[in-house]
Amino acid sequence: MDQRGLWQSVLGEIELSVPKASFAALFKRVELYSINGSEVEIAVPNVFIETQLQGRYKDLIPSILIKNGVKNPKVNYRVNLKTKRQAISREVVADDLPLSSTPVVTMPSRPVLKSGLNPKYAFENFIVGSSNDFAYSAAQAVANNPGTKYNPLFFYSGVGLGKTHLVQAIGNYVIKNNPAARVLYVTIETFTQEFVNFIRFKNQDFSSKYRNVDILIVDDMQFIAGKEKIQEEFFHTFNALHQKNKQIIITSDKPPKSIPTLSERLRSRFEWGMTIDIQMPDFETRCAILAAKANLAGVELDNQTIEYLANNYRTNIRELEGALNQLLAFSDMRGVPPTIETAEGIIEGSRASRPQHLTPRQVLVKTSNYFELSIEVLTSKSRTKDIVLPRQIAMYLLRSELHLSYPKIAQELGRQDHTTAIHSITKIQKEIKLNPILREQLNSIRESLYE
Ligand code: ADP
Ligand code: MG
Repeated sequence: MDQRGLWQSVLGEIELSVPKASFAALFKRVELYSINGSEVEIAVPNVFIETQLQGRYKDLIPSILIKNGVKNPKVNYRVNLKTKRQAISREVVADDLPLSSTPVVTMPSRPVLKSGLNPKYAFENFIVGSSNDFAYSAAQAVANNPGTKYNPLFFYSGVGLGKTHLVQAIGNYVIKNNPAARVLYVTIETFTQEFVNFIRFKNQDFSSKYRNVDILIVDDMQFIAGKEKIQEEFFHTFNALHQKNKQIIITSDKPPKSIPTLSERLRSRFEWGMTIDIQMPDFETRCAILAAKANLAGVELDNQTIEYLANNYRTNIRELEGALNQLLAFSDMRGVPPTIETAEGIIEGSRASRPQHLTPRQVLVKTSNYFELSIEVLTSKSRTKDIVLPRQIAMYLLRSELHLSYPKIAQELGRQDHTTAIHSITKIQKEIKLNPILREQLNSIRESLYE
């Protein structure tokens, strides 16, 4: 059997032996990278998944490999290792090799040009998941071959999703590999300010600063809206660089066509190269980011706490990071462990920021959809095991997400007696601590509630 056939058969067996939600969350994007006798290298998309595969699913892949004829498999999991298939299927030729293991980006002294880069933004500490892997691959491709591939490279996304991090990582990477490279990072506000000063005081050589670089990175381009003179100046800067095959990298909170009053000629130039959006990170990516950041801080968080934070901050990685920092600072100052209870205490207030439109009905619909039951069956009197658990989960979610009273929860489920609701919710609360599958089921349903 060839490598591909082997892996398909392994995945097929995994799919049959783990719950649907676990398969989707953990195994779908795992790939066989190489197999050499008994040495097996498996590419996983992030550290969260790696931890799960080395932890509670430790024996699963090796045992299925044995069944498929691999003798004594020695399995190594590798994060950020793009398999050839992934790289090709995206039509972005990313480096096939793992990233350099040097974690710290050192800034050589550069008397001539101050790059404006912050060395803390590196590829090595950028967590890749399905929401940003395309952007990440393009960033790597440009970092390896600036000026030749995608010019300009244009990233857009909502706030706090990693644009600044990723574009600065490109700059830092380039300087690390080639200290002579002239890299300049500015926000469009700085560009604007310097241009205004130049016009007013003629005291700096504005054009030569911006036009004599190998890589120009301009952050937050949306603020060019409504500024005609700046648009014109940037247009000339762009042309001067592009003609010399110098790399231009731009970020914005919206795509070029949606930046209001952007001149037509500038818009079309922004669209010459590659325009990529960074999406909201999915649950597993958020967990991976938390695990990695806690790790950097030298703290090990349990899965329950990580999942709790990841569930409460869905749309902005800066806020997710902020919550983690708050938790770590609090537990440090008070000398308490950073557990889920501590986290709950700290971020209770932020629950108010959750979407208001969630209704009890939606909770029931999403829960029954998840378990492939009809809502009538879910709210029926049936005591079959396959229905009792989904019903208890629905009650738990009505409590945790909507803070309904017990009598109200009973009523939503078509019941008179609210003690059933209390029993069900207490049971789930206890079981969450012991049963990772249940936690995952809850996470998947919660995800679907806030999609
Ligand atoms: P944006 O520029 O899109 O508003 P930033 O790049 O400033 O977002 O990201 C906000 C914070 O989140 C930064 O501290 C950044 O390091 C962190 N961050 C964003 N995406 C990731 C990621 N994929 N992995 C690790 N940290 C991330
Ligand atoms: Mg930014």
